[in-house]
Amino acid sequence: MMQGEKFALPMLPLRGIVVFPSTITNFEVVRETSLKALDKVMEKDARIFLVTQKNPRMESPEREDIFSVGVIAKVRHILKISGGMVRVLAEGLQRARLIEYTLEDCYMATVEDCTQSAFKGEKAAAYMRSLIEKYEEFGLASNRVSQEALLALSEIKSPSRLADTVAVGLVKEIPEKQGILETLDIEERLQKVINHAVREKNIAMIESEISKKTKSRLEQTQKEHYLREQIRSIQSSLGEEENPESEADKIKAYVKTMPVAEDTKEKLQKEAARMEHMNMQSPDYNVMLNYFEWIMALPFRKYTVDDIDIARAKKALNRHHYGMTKVKERILEYLSICKLTGKVQGNILCFIGPPGVGKTSIAKAIAEAMGRKFVRMSLGGVRDEAEIRGHRRTYVGSIPGRIISNIRRAGTMNPVFLLDEIDKMASDFRGDPTAALLEVLDEEVNQTFQDHYLDIDFDLSGVMFIATANNADDIPPALYDRMEIIELDSYTPYEKEQIALRHLISKQLEKHGMNKEILHIQPSAVRAIISGYTRESGVRELERCIADICRKAAKAYVEKGDRILVKKNNLVKYLGNPRYMDTKLPKEAAVGTAIGLAWTRAGGTTLPIEVSVMEGSGETELTGQMGDVMKESAKTAISLVRSHAESLGISAEFHKKKDIHIHIPEGAVPKDGPSAGITMALAVASALSGRKVRRDIAMTGEVTLSGHVLMIGGLREKTFAAYRAGIYNVILPKDNMVDLEEIPKEIRSKLHFFPVTEFREVVEIGLGQEKQHAD
Ligand code: ADP
Repeated sequence: MMQGEKFALPMLPLRGIVVFPSTITNFEVVRETSLKALDKVMEKDARIFLVTQKNPRMESPEREDIFSVGVIAKVRHILKISGGMVRVLAEGLQRARLIEYTLEDCYMATVEDCTQSAFKGEKAAAYMRSLIEKYEEFGLASNRVSQEALLALSEIKSPSRLADTVAVGLVKEIPEKQGILETLDIEERLQKVINHAVREKNIAMIESEISKKTKSRLEQTQKEHYLREQIRSIQSSLGEEENPESEADKIKAYVKTMPVAEDTKEKLQKEAARMEHMNMQSPDYNVMLNYFEWIMALPFRKYTVDDIDIARAKKALNRHHYGMTKVKERILEYLSICKLTGKVQGNILCFIGPPGVGKTSIAKAIAEAMGRKFVRMSLGGVRDEAEIRGHRRTYVGSIPGRIISNIRRAGTMNPVFLLDEIDKMASDFRGDPTAALLEVLDEEVNQTFQDHYLDIDFDLSGVMFIATANNADDIPPALYDRMEIIELDSYTPYEKEQIALRHLISKQLEKHGMNKEILHIQPSAVRAIISGYTRESGVRELERCIADICRKAAKAYVEKGDRILVKKNNLVKYLGNPRYMDTKLPKEAAVGTAIGLAWTRAGGTTLPIEVSVMEGSGETELTGQMGDVMKESAKTAISLVRSHAESLGISAEFHKKKDIHIHIPEGAVPKDGPSAGITMALAVASALSGRKVRRDIAMTGEVTLSGHVLMIGGLREKTFAAYRAGIYNVILPKDNMVDLEEIPKEIRSKLHFFPVTEFREVVEIGLGQEKQHAD
């Protein structure tokens, strides 16, 4: 046989093995085509082409499913075994490459001998010696190579054969084996097998390291167990039983005294009894121990006694909170009923309002007023029922849900339990937390609340739940029905100032270990913080700014003993440059710019809208972070102006000859909603007619295509924004006039309101003569 010589041979695709030249292999054959191939082989000279298929599960491999290089082998023996299966013993002869094949009743291949010419000399000898050495090292590390095998290797003279023989014993993965089979260059092949030997040796060493460690750990626990057994037997012979049962006994004794239903007790006793038969080292024992630790830590019998004295409660509420008159009144009513009925009311109080308006702190004050413990649990982002109800105990590392965990933290069965951000809860495939929460809140069923981990009834009926939310619309309806809603409004700048001066400053001073002697913040500085450093409905940022000042002042005081007076004009030293500037009133009345009012989560803001008109072909462009609804209202605004063109003195052809560009500066904050309708329409009308918009007026209102002005939301916050910007005239939908009551007097009395029902009126006022604003 010569390199390059071609042969036509029956072919047998192999599954899961690679056959090498100079080795004897046996394998089983079941496939019909393969059996036929064997028949053919036995008719001729018993030679066959063996080649491995890439995916062993494939029944009828095609060309691309078979590797290219295989071996020509001699079939030595065929043995029929059960089920039509045949065992074949074959000897690999030489490497060959598959050129083509046909498939009739069996695969018939044309193959080409691809044996490389011999690799000889000192280099070959060096490679061979090195291979044997590395293989021997692998043998030592793994204990997987016998002396006889090593001896047999040393007798091999051919480098190619040596590489193949070692590869058969060493390499395990099919792709790697095939890789070596396909490496025709002998030097390269030797190198590959050497690399394998080194790698396998390293792996074997790490394996033995791991197994040693495991063994010693096992031995250690066995030793401990054995010693414990000994101690136990010594103690028992001394009559001092301190055995593993004692843990279980302690638990049993505890369970006996638990104030729970009889069947619950029985269940717990059974579990405790199971512990007695457990090995203390077993994971099960520890799971059980952990479980009873939880049970024993829960405050089953601890209740605080409600001490509701309305006058005192009023004081407690007032002590920490400025204003909130209506809210405090509602809370006192609620507490009075609790006092009369002797239990917490069925409906859950729910405080709704923007962040930082005091929802959490008023709930804390309720707890204080009633003499109850207080715990808070945030529901923001909770989407998994298990967070509320816990995981079953079988689950590795499982713990009770957050309701039970918080009861443990409270240390009493009747705390005030704040469910924060109930509107931020989501549900998904892991179960609906709302359903679990409903059970928690429902006084019909919460006496027997079931946590998956505890797996016993737990009485939540003494707990006073209070919820908070930013937005009533996002509360799941089923929960909403169970709530008694109390709304907390955003604060006016004046209220914020009062809150800071009366509460926040002293609170922060105390927190930072200081007093008014060391740090004094003037009211003018507070006002400057409110307008220049915060933009919020509540007072969180304001409180944070005060804390920042306290920290800086504390440092200065400690370092140099400086007492500090913070004024409006040295504020920059403590807080850096102001972060917010209110929209400056345009100095002159301008064409194409109107000032709208918008509501955002952080409160109200002014929203200037700019329109420019160019010669063109009727294109419209909208820029500056507009939401879809706002884009719609921009288009409505243009159509509306078109239908009013004549009365506005605008050429009726403008939609063909002019391009209109509507832009909202300060585009960083995305804005959406229909309430900028009249503002956009007025700005467009101004830009097209060349008439100026009054600079002292701001507006809000949705507008229809026919020019009706519709009601909007968030009027309170919007008027605050106008007031803050020094704009004292506000155009608003007539239907919103009822909302003016919500606006604190100190602001309402400074503003002048223009109620409108038609766009015509907006034009009349907005493009009309400027007036001196009301004082
Ligand atoms: P929320 O729960 O509504 O987000 P917080 O209760 O956390 O708001 O209030 C933020 C901070 O503002 C707290 O330190 C709180 O005491 C304070 N605060 C809010 N409203 C008032 C108020 N009317 N009087 C005094 N402090 C207030």
